[in-house]
Amino acid sequence: MESSDRNTQCCIAGGGPAGLMLGYLLARAGLRVTVLEKHDDFLRDFRGDTIHPSTLTVLQDIGLLEEFLKLPHQEVAELSGDVYGQTVTVADFRHLPAPRPFLVLIPQWDFLDFIAREARKFPGFTLCMGAKAAGVIEEGGRVTGAQVESHEGNYAIRADLVVGADGRHSVIRPDGGLESVDTGAPIDVLWFRLPRDAAHDPERTGGTIRPGAILVTLNRDEYWQCAFVIPKGSLEQMQQEGIAAFRVRVARIADFLADDVDALRSWDDVKLLSVQISHLRRWWREGLLCIGDSAHAMSPVGGVGINLAIQDAVAAANLLAQPLREGRLRTQDLEAVQRRREWPARVTQRAQVAIQNEVLSPVLTSSTAPGDLPLPLKLLQRLPLLRRLPARLVGIGVRPERVRSLN
Ligand SMILES: Cc1cc2nc3c(=O)[nH]c(=O)nc-3n(C[C@H](O)[C@H](O)[C@H](O)COP(=O)(O)OP(=O)(O)OC[C@H]3O[C@@H](n4cnc5c(N)ncnc54)[C@H](O)[C@@H]3O)c2cc1C
Repeated sequence: MESSDRNTQCCIAGGGPAGLMLGYLLARAGLRVTVLEKHDDFLRDFRGDTIHPSTLTVLQDIGLLEEFLKLPHQEVAELSGDVYGQTVTVADFRHLPAPRPFLVLIPQWDFLDFIAREARKFPGFTLCMGAKAAGVIEEGGRVTGAQVESHEGNYAIRADLVVGADGRHSVIRPDGGLESVDTGAPIDVLWFRLPRDAAHDPERTGGTIRPGAILVTLNRDEYWQCAFVIPKGSLEQMQQEGIAAFRVRVARIADFLADDVDALRSWDDVKLLSVQISHLRRWWREGLLCIGDSAHAMSPVGGVGINLAIQDAVAAANLLAQPLREGRLRTQDLEAVQRRREWPARVTQRAQVAIQNEVLSPVLTSSTAPGDLPLPLKLLQRLPLLRRLPARLVGIGVRPERVRSLN
């Protein structure tokens, strides 16, 4: 079956934010690195659109910030939403200690294409599209490479290090024998597009909360990318009620969508994105490391998963580039990556679980609007200085990473 064997210093399974950023940084440090991406392109729209100040700082560290900001994007200085008819601002990014104190909204494929384009400028970087990591190769109790299934045929890649950056449905993680603990999540997301009338529709990207409903609308110019939050497992009942009833439900939440909902012709136009929160007890074993969602699957709450995945990549490159370059990688180096990144990931996941349980689930199960805003939201309205705290958590996060110069 195998057409040939290949060799590299680091083989990364998964060309998402974690995998591509790690590939970029290791290639920049002079290493030979191969990134395997199972899809033929990055054109999938289910992975979130937010690039936070922490990632903008990383882009500045590697000298790509100005080029990146030339791509079409939106800049969001504060996060606000329509909560039971009141505009509520929950985060103000303007005061963050970052080179660019705002969120960038950009379709994730544009971000990934950009990083891949820049990474290809390094001679050691190889990106194999349409190449699926089917499992790890083990020899003498250590991982020594990955099996690859691709359009060119199946082959093996030998590597000093294999990195599982293959997301929340990782193949590498279980095949490498790493045990994942599922925290569960009470929500799922329905993901669909509606046409956008630039002349009449509002500009803003944001969330709308109504009794029993949460809808996030991302402005992508010609269309709205919509994320409709539902209680986990409730899709079947909604499907039984029919697509027409769903159209009515959406139009009732956001009246500016009323003329657009007819674009949903059947349930085929609506994708179910299953939300999951999980973590690995151990992120590594000899020859293998998992980072990003593969090590700690994030909920969409706060839109922080992409940025955490990138922080993992920066920490991994900081800690591993030199030992890899010198051919003296030890399991202690892999353990150091987990030690550095596990705490930020777990703290963020705990905050996501709290928001899911204390805020989102009660909204989704309520049938009437509360007489008053919940206390935290009321405080955020009365005391604007408080909005800097959620901005800090979302925009920069816990234990931010900076790229160390490796050349
Ligand atoms: C509904 C929803 C909305 C979200 N919205 C946001 C948001 O707005 N902002 C935000 O920051 N986070 C958001 N998140 C979280 C975010 O998507 C993840 O945390 C983030 O994408 C993790 O990055 P990653 O690189 O670890 O994994 P992924 O982005 O999942 O990338 C993994 C990559 O590996 C590839 N792959 C998978 N298996 C293989 C294989 N066997 N071989 C080769 N390639 C493989 C996949 O095709 C993919 O390209 C959202 C999550 C959900 C569920």
